[in-house]
Amino acid sequence: MNPSFKKAFVCGWPIAHSRSPQIHQFWLKQFQISGSYEKIAVKPEDFVNFLQTIKADGYCGGNVTIPHKETALACVSRTDDAATKIGAVNTLWLEEGEWVGGNTDWLGFTANLDECAPGWDKPEKLERPAVILGAGGAARGIVYALVMRGFKDIVLVNRTIEAAQRLALDFSLPSPVVSLSDLDQVSGDLSLLINTTSLGMDGKQPLPDSVVRLIGRVSKKTIASDIVYIPLETEFLAKARHAGLVSVDGLGMLLHQAVPGFQQWFGVKPEVTSKLRNLVISGIEGHK
Ligand code: NAP
Repeated sequence: MNPSFKKAFVCGWPIAHSRSPQIHQFWLKQFQISGSYEKIAVKPEDFVNFLQTIKADGYCGGNVTIPHKETALACVSRTDDAATKIGAVNTLWLEEGEWVGGNTDWLGFTANLDECAPGWDKPEKLERPAVILGAGGAARGIVYALVMRGFKDIVLVNRTIEAAQRLALDFSLPSPVVSLSDLDQVSGDLSLLINTTSLGMDGKQPLPDSVVRLIGRVSKKTIASDIVYIPLETEFLAKARHAGLVSVDGLGMLLHQAVPGFQQWFGVKPEVTSKLRNLVISGIEGHK
């Protein structure tokens, strides 16, 4: 094989649904880089061994997705600050023969808002609460992103209150956490309303009435963002749009989180363009 040929991967279980190959293969072709990016199905019990064999097979790095993100954190020789604080690794690369892990999900989230809702973190926005629906793995990256951009009043809302309490404690969030069933107690004077729950994914599971009511009564200056991107316009985003809110879909987060990984492995910083976005959308629509 050509010695300059570079190989990267995305691994998960299941992995068939991953859009990452489409994104990285688009950039490889655009920059005429001699390299590959492929998806590899890895069962949870095989992940540790996989990291060893993939190194021997000449891969320079890759992405890690569900359910391996937390295991990856424990397997690498070093993590970046984001991965350490978030408690999960989504990007791997080799340094002197050792795996290093980073987390770029939060960068994807912030870059997407920078692009689609410029000014979302300006000083007057930081004075109002940001409400996050959900307290799962993805919510951890969103909390990190908001803390990094200066938000102090971050309100976690979750069906299982204990998960929200744990997350608030991990990030020393001063605001009280709220159960999804008590959402009517939350003020509508918000800067951000972010859905990180899997509600709305694949058009399944309707939004709880309390969320619909909140969308209807928040300030019109509230920015609504959903990190779910299949469908592209979730029920949450459709309701936000009808309520006149600026609404930001989750696909941009997926596209932007891929940028640092590509740069790390292939040495070129790519851009998220409308051509790439449309390519991924056509893939999503083709699999409805
Ligand atoms: P996760 O760890 O499984 O967390 C799921 C969250 O959704 C939990 O807060 C859970 O609440 C809540 N939830 C699930 N079903 C619910 C229901 N019926 N009613 C109320 N709450 C419910 O998943 P995750 O890794 O955080 O991912 C969440 C979503 O984000 C997924 O759809 C994923 O595809 C998407 N995502 C997108 C990106 C992107 O780049 N755009 C990146 C990462 C993830 P409980 O704690 O009560 O169970």
